[in-house]
Amino acid sequence: MRKAIYPGTFDPITLGHLDVIKRGGNLFDELVVAVTTNPNKKTLFSLEERIELIEKSVSGMKNIRVKGFNSLLVDFMKGENSTIVLRGLREVSDFSSEFQHAIVNRKLDGDIETVFVMTSEDYFYLNSSLVKEISSFGGNVSEFVPEPVKEKLKEKFK
Ligand code: ADP
Repeated sequence: MRKAIYPGTFDPITLGHLDVIKRGGNLFDELVVAVTTNPNKKTLFSLEERIELIEKSVSGMKNIRVKGFNSLLVDFMKGENSTIVLRGLREVSDFSSEFQHAIVNRKLDGDIETVFVMTSEDYFYLNSSLVKEISSFGGNVSEFVPEPVKEKLKEKFK
């Protein structure tokens, strides 16, 4: 059985993330979306809110699970019995930091392999910060995020 872990901040999940999740769900028997509690990153949504928004967005996709973690990724992976990290690539600017993460994770645990999927051309420009900025000014984010996220953003910026 092939199980992969898709780690990220997901503050909040966008249609770009969801595109990566769908691709991962097709590639692997099981995909765990691992939501990080990195204390160095200030998030708009709490860990619980981010998890709930992902769960609502992936409902009906039966090989996807969502979990929070606050340890090193390699330690979380061991607990999950998985050696495959899934990450999404948008444009060249993603490459250098993704390359760095992949190498460091491999140095920490030689069994870890990072697999990249390229996002759909519809979402390559998209990130969570852009969505939050648009939403904070009352803009319409329907094109960028799943419905439950749209509602939650409206509530946050009311
Ligand atoms: P992190 O803080 O770990 O980068 P993010 O939530 O920003 O967490 O991103 C998690 C992963 O999702 C990363 O691999 C990132 O490149 C990918 N990703 C984010 N937005 C998109 C998008 N629009 N299309 C494809 N991949 C994306």
